[in-house]
Amino acid sequence: MPRLVMKFGGTSVADLDRIRNAATKVKREIDAGYDVAVVVSAMSGKTNELVGWVRDAASPEGDNRPGFYDAREYDSVVASGEQVTAGLMALTLQQMGVDARSWLGWQVPVRTSDAHGAARIEAIETEGLDAKFAEGTHAVIAGFQGLGPNGRITTLGRGGSDTTAVAFAAALGAERCDIYTDVDGVYTTDPRITKKARKLDRIAYEEMLELASLGAKVLQVRSVELAMAHKVRLAVRSSFSDEPGTLVCDEEEIVESNVISGVAYSRDEAKITLRNLADSPGIAASVFGPLADAGVNVDMIIQDISAEGFTDITFSCPVDDVARATEAVERGKADGSVAYDDLVVDTECAKVSIVGIGMRSHAGVAGRMFRALAEENINIKVITTSEIKVSVLVDRKYMELAVQALHDQFGLEKVGEPSLA
Ligand code: ADP
Ligand code: ASP
Ligand code: MG
Repeated sequence: MPRLVMKFGGTSVADLDRIRNAATKVKREIDAGYDVAVVVSAMSGKTNELVGWVRDAASPEGDNRPGFYDAREYDSVVASGEQVTAGLMALTLQQMGVDARSWLGWQVPVRTSDAHGAARIEAIETEGLDAKFAEGTHAVIAGFQGLGPNGRITTLGRGGSDTTAVAFAAALGAERCDIYTDVDGVYTTDPRITKKARKLDRIAYEEMLELASLGAKVLQVRSVELAMAHKVRLAVRSSFSDEPGTLVCDEEEIVESNVISGVAYSRDEAKITLRNLADSPGIAASVFGPLADAGVNVDMIIQDISAEGFTDITFSCPVDDVARATEAVERGKADGSVAYDDLVVDTECAKVSIVGIGMRSHAGVAGRMFRALAEENINIKVITTSEIKVSVLVDRKYMELAVQALHDQFGLEKVGEPSLA
């Protein structure tokens, strides 16, 4: 029998009614002749609550330095949300007359690396599931979790149920992997930011990968990487309608598209500048080495033209990493490994990015982006580009405005308006 993976996100399994609604969709596919592996997230809000409990238990004083809690216990707590929904989904399907059984990560098993809290799936042993499919039993799999080499539960990072779903689709040779969520597809930008956002019928893997890594949380980045590597046909669809959704596919399968496919944003960014650094070989290494050791996720970087042996270095990182970043840099100054005059921190930033494979063949896209922002009087603090994206750091208070202005500028409301006038 052909196989299908159907993943339901947090809002799609938020209560028993929603689980019933999702189960109806599963039953429909089973009745159409598929062997189905259902992957479930925790009920919406649950994982946040569990993470909060872990933090409060580990540090009532609000410490947030890396390693302040035992990541193995973090995983054992936060993985529990998916255990509940997997069992409830199996029960609901049974109640509808479907033969279904739940599987936790360790029961399959889903083998992962030992990076607790951000583990990577290394192998999925599907023999148990295969045997059950042969008996007519469908599978309900707890997303987000796996089994580490030390025999302990691991989790795959926030949003990781998407990755569970794609990994199962690849391992089971599924015809398709359907990601059911609270929007009916991938849009030109987050529909919460502008009503003009348009649902895309198709999007190329590479574009989806960029959008996801630049902040569009509709799919976890790793899930798109896996889908691309294993050529999994990935569809994003609504749990609350029967719309066809968006297919993530090879670019050759896309007939019509704009130069820019989408606008992504990342809200909680910070900018840190080191002024008047002694400009000598090895200076960047002496700044960014300790930042990496401190677990700071450095994103954009600029080093200014130096004057008389001095230079400035600016970088961006998530707001949550700022305390660690400043600590690491100040430690370098104290022990003499980095010499600078001032450390300037701006925690009120956001990153806005445009993404499109059309940029490969069209010049002038970045200029047009900067003009659109200038027309709204939005100052650009840092710029980075790659082959198919341009990102800018702006004041957080202008983030929505910047997304809307770029959406308008590149005519994303309509398909087929790639003019670069
Ligand atoms: P789930 O709980 O189902 O995994 P998520 O909250 O992780 O759902 O992802 C869905 C959300 O992603 C949407 O509600 C939407 O606000 C957001 N989103 C951000 N960018 C986009 C985009 N380009 N297209 C669709 N949704 C997007
Ligand atoms: N429940 C997990 C989270 O909220 C995994 C997921 O929903 O994909 O991050
Ligand atoms: Mg998600």
